Amino acid sequence: MGRVLIIGCGGVASVAIHKCCQNSEVFEEIMIASRTKSKCDALKAKLDGGKTKIETAQVDADNVDEVIALIKSYKPDLVMNIALPYQDLTIMDACLACGVNYMDTANYEPEDIEEPEWKAAYEKRCKEEGFSAYFDYSYQWAYKKKFEEAGLTALLGSGFDPGVTQAYCAYALKHEFDEIDTIDILDCNGGDHGYPFATNFNPEINLREVSAPGSYWENGHWVEVPAMSIKREYNFDQVGQKDMYLLHHEEIESLAKNIPGVKRIRFFMTFGQSYLDHMRCLENVGMLSTTPINYEGKEIVPIQFLKALLPDPASLGPRTKGKTNIGCIFTGKKDGKEKTFYVYNVCDHQECYQEVGSQAISYTTGVPAMIGAMMLLTGTWNKPGVYTVEEFDPDPYMEALNKWGLPWQVSYEPVLVD
Ligand code: NDP
Repeated sequence: MGRVLIIGCGGVASVAIHKCCQNSEVFEEIMIASRTKSKCDALKAKLDGGKTKIETAQVDADNVDEVIALIKSYKPDLVMNIALPYQDLTIMDACLACGVNYMDTANYEPEDIEEPEWKAAYEKRCKEEGFSAYFDYSYQWAYKKKFEEAGLTALLGSGFDPGVTQAYCAYALKHEFDEIDTIDILDCNGGDHGYPFATNFNPEINLREVSAPGSYWENGHWVEVPAMSIKREYNFDQVGQKDMYLLHHEEIESLAKNIPGVKRIRFFMTFGQSYLDHMRCLENVGMLSTTPINYEGKEIVPIQFLKALLPDPASLGPRTKGKTNIGCIFTGKKDGKEKTFYVYNVCDHQECYQEVGSQAISYTTGVPAMIGAMMLLTGTWNKPGVYTVEEFDPDPYMEALNKWGLPWQVSYEPVLVD
């Protein structure tokens, strides 16, 4: 059916590529292109022999012209950006220049947060909007008209959260509620990798996310609170009791716009005490800083140096045991009556490892990346512009989740989070 250029070959991309190869009727030909070509070649060697034809290439996706040249030579039907959020805009520019559909798994964030023009716009947004995360949708939403005019679709954030969580919201709105009042997104990782400290995906992205202030949407505006200052306990199905903390998360921004009348949206993620102690210490000594320092004549970025010291998230697969449980709890009304609804997925780290050689965090992101790409390639989701997952019909996506490894479960009497 189609030919896809996949940019990035890290933890998430590796799972997405495995899944594309399992789904060879849709993904007939793929090119894996990344900064380090040897990783693409190693993955190709592992997966070659199936029905999907695999090619590889080297690309620096920070460079629009390089991406344009690659797209022009490979002529894909779709570009899957599974590199880092830093590359979102350059890859979108290249897709526009070449007339190709685009998708990614995380919204744009600049690599250099001291860059004056970006910083001025950021400070203005903090004041106007009331949340201070470095990432937001405004940069990619600004491409909406250009994609519409070009007749192209950009699908933003098709991972688990963002991604599946928004499909859950669209599903709840379509099938379970007339009005949704509150949404609590609960992301629980009950896995244990046995290291004192490691991050489950790209450390730079992960640590920046969790060390930032938390925020939630309430009654039409953002409420920002200090990092990790709102804590709750929750008893997760198949995982058990865990501490979870309120974080800012990117899908809140689009859901606040797209779920009519929603009064409150919060996001909670579980963290163990040891993880938090390590993170606080690293932050206090400056190791989470993205500002370069001069060390013995060489410029280094502390968080990038830390990344080099920490275990590669891809290496956690064989060691991680336990399950993840990620889902959304809704309250609202149906036929004039109050109603609650919980939809979630439970994923087992070891089962993921046996299937694709990765732990569940990469798996739960890589599978929806493949599914989002499938929605675009098959024309199931097809409207020109720039959209997040909840803006499309959730049914084919929800069906695909059941088929491709992330089956969902529902409960009509969930314990609510206070
Ligand atoms: P990794 O760091 O494991 O992989 C990133 C990949 O991108 C690497 O192959 C890296 O190459 C490549 N890359 C980085 N910079 C460039 C560049 N300039 N040009 C070309 N390739 C580049 O990250 P993850 O796989 O953990 O995460 C991938 C994406 O998924 C991120 O955007 C992350 O935010 C997102 N994510 C989304 C989630 C969701 O639920 N929606 C959850 C988890 C992650 P190299 O090998 O040379 O470093």
